[in-house]
Amino acid sequence: MSKHQSEVAKRRTFAIISHPDAGKTTITEKVLLFGNALQQAGTVKGKKSGQHAKSDWMQMEKDRGISVTTSVMQFPYNECLVNLLDTPGHEDFSEDTYRTLTAVDSCLMVIDAAKGVEERTIKLMEVTRLRDTPIITFMNKLDRDTRDPIELMDEVEDVLKIACAPITWPIGMGKEFKGVYNLYDDEVILYSTGQGHTIQERRTIQGLDSPELDKELGAYADDFRDEIELVRGASHEFDLEMFLAGELTPVYFGTALGNFGVDHMLDGLTAWAPAPQARETHDRKVEPMEEKFSGFVFKIQANMDPQHRDRIAFLRIVSGKYQKGMKSKHVRIGKEVRFSDALTFMAGDREAVEEASAGDIIGLHNHGSIQIGDTFTQGEDLKFTGIPHFAPELFKRIRLKDPLKQKQLLKGIIQLSEEGAVQVFRPLKNNDLIVGAVGPLQFDVVAQRLKDEYKVEAIYEPISVATARWVDSDDKQKMAEFEKKAYDNLALDGGDNLTYIAPTMVNLSLAQERYPDVNFRSTREH
Ligand code: GDP
Repeated sequence: MSKHQSEVAKRRTFAIISHPDAGKTTITEKVLLFGNALQQAGTVKGKKSGQHAKSDWMQMEKDRGISVTTSVMQFPYNECLVNLLDTPGHEDFSEDTYRTLTAVDSCLMVIDAAKGVEERTIKLMEVTRLRDTPIITFMNKLDRDTRDPIELMDEVEDVLKIACAPITWPIGMGKEFKGVYNLYDDEVILYSTGQGHTIQERRTIQGLDSPELDKELGAYADDFRDEIELVRGASHEFDLEMFLAGELTPVYFGTALGNFGVDHMLDGLTAWAPAPQARETHDRKVEPMEEKFSGFVFKIQANMDPQHRDRIAFLRIVSGKYQKGMKSKHVRIGKEVRFSDALTFMAGDREAVEEASAGDIIGLHNHGSIQIGDTFTQGEDLKFTGIPHFAPELFKRIRLKDPLKQKQLLKGIIQLSEEGAVQVFRPLKNNDLIVGAVGPLQFDVVAQRLKDEYKVEAIYEPISVATARWVDSDDKQKMAEFEKKAYDNLALDGGDNLTYIAPTMVNLSLAQERYPDVNFRSTREH
């Protein structure tokens, strides 16, 4: 193996998917603690300690104490170099969250074991399905009274349509939570309370049959042995191939707050999760081991440093390596650019990197020439696919306080939509400007940026739009007929693509029934 190949092989690039409050932030802290990236856990969401979170860059984030935007954290674990791409967790849910999932090779799904599968998790799982991303599951908050673990697994299988293979199994729950049993190592790992902020000394018992277990658990030990027999019979066995195909998920139990189980999960992630994967372009598949550099932009973040008003384009390296000062082709505009000062993200700090490999994320300074979905290469005209727009779910009409600045507003909003901050729709029938978003915070960010960067003060007004679908058809005649009949519901998006704007979901399904030859698409490629 060349040096490049061994660098790539040790990368693991993943993101956490979960419903708000399931424990993503807490797990991120513990993951960084294990990665030696934080001295003491508890500084990711720094609002309580008065210290700002390492991933808090924007003023808005600081004001709200939440992450507006995703960030990237890199740390070593076992023999691997792990990249964790943070996705916003709260109401700041946005298209960035979806697109970040296109830049990872695996996902950690965190479930609150007291609540089970929740709505946001279902949505995010749908997105991971677009690429059959391998999923590892962590059932969190076992230090509380949770639902029955077998029932939890059944729910994941039924609702998310993925087979569950428990790797560890919890011994009790809530006040009686004693630890977990690893079904493959035949090892009991005991839990101690009050050690949430440090790496615990590992207390283990070898073998389920060990008399030590009886000492530790008393009369419950035999019940637990019976339970394990039942679990082995009733659950799937771990299967690497099925895991890599996104058909089966290894399941771990623990408590992030108590810092128990996160390391077991990391052991599984580093052992089984895939190294950087190949990515499709319009012409060919690009393999990570290829020597020449290539990558795609999946996210643009503005105002990370309001002083300099710089925008950072996040690029996932697909093949080859980045070297400081290298030249690269910006394929869409056909120009060669020099990367002089790309950023990397050791545990949230921005640092200039000398080198980065396939699987890593680098941040490029962007003065407006980079858009979401852009491909960079070392000369070859490639265009990566699979970095989609998702149909927005929230809509508002945007209007100016000062109507004389309509041109600036249009320019600003179109540019922001090209960047992926928001989506814009212009109805064919009138001069409205409709802004569409996946998460409500996108609206605030856009209003703020219009003010700062385009000097226009915009106001939002409610509008009765339920959803939007990109429309096309192979049948020109049918399409023309549709365009005529559905004129009042049609709009152009920021890239002049024809879109059907549905006032209600019922209206959408009626339209779909009425025009069976028209495709109503809920995602669109950049
Ligand atoms: P996020 O919204 O998914 O980022 O969730 P957070 O990490 O912010 O956690 C939400 C709440 O659950 C916080 O109050 C955490 O302290 C709490 N929490 C997280 N993990 C655990 C756990 O293992 N046990 C208990 N009891 N609470 C937890």
